[in-house]
Amino acid sequence: MKLTFLGVCSALSVGYKNFQSNMLIESTNSKRILIDCGGDVRNSLHELDYGSSDIDAVYISHLHADHVGGLEWLGFSKFFIDKQQPKLYISQDQSARLWNNVLSGGMSTLEDSTASLETFFKVMPIQDQSFMWEKIQFQLIKVIHSYSNQQLLPSYGLFIQGAKLKIFISTDARFSPELLAPIYQQADLIFQDCETSAFRSKQHAHYNDLKNLAPNIKQKMWLYDYNDGQLPDALEDGFKGFITRGQVFNF
Ligand SMILES: [Zn+2]
Repeated sequence: MKLTFLGVCSALSVGYKNFQSNMLIESTNSKRILIDCGGDVRNSLHELDYGSSDIDAVYISHLHADHVGGLEWLGFSKFFIDKQQPKLYISQDQSARLWNNVLSGGMSTLEDSTASLETFFKVMPIQDQSFMWEKIQFQLIKVIHSYSNQQLLPSYGLFIQGAKLKIFISTDARFSPELLAPIYQQADLIFQDCETSAFRSKQHAHYNDLKNLAPNIKQKMWLYDYNDGQLPDALEDGFKGFITRGQVFNF
């Protein structure tokens, strides 16, 4: 199994260099699943010589545009050009909103029929917050991310049991050391979103908070989803480091 970071930066980052934090996982038999599909994804894929035809499936953690803004491109490209229907994995509580609140405005525009999410994607069932993809188990981990008028809008991170390593991808998560402690302990490698700006959005764990985690947790933690500007010395502070765009991890 191979995990490639197509992008490593925050939703608000600008410029061509680092792209928003989306990933690609490739199985041993060369099937590929996108982990989130944000507005940068057609360019971040292209930069690594991938296109829509290389994508077999997509996982969506939550509905912010840096995670779903590329789905119209992917769905239309697969439908009209590749004549394929990628598998779509999304938690049950977000599936209807993905179509009704995000995609239907642009995608329910077929000439002779009424399109739905199932027109473009093979929506796959997620039961007990878990699914299998290419014989690999993906466990959804509900993490605290945003609130809408005091109602939690979570993101769903992923705990994945690879052939060699167990990994945790936080997607977008506030600093929640108690909630995530069991997951941090179990994982061999942690991929943690990390805000680095002076301004705290409160939507993500901030570097200055993550710095206070126990050394044995930081020793297996890679940081991504950072902001534009100078980065602190993550190695000096006990982390594995900041991930760079295009970086690959075999697990
Ligand atoms: Zn988000």
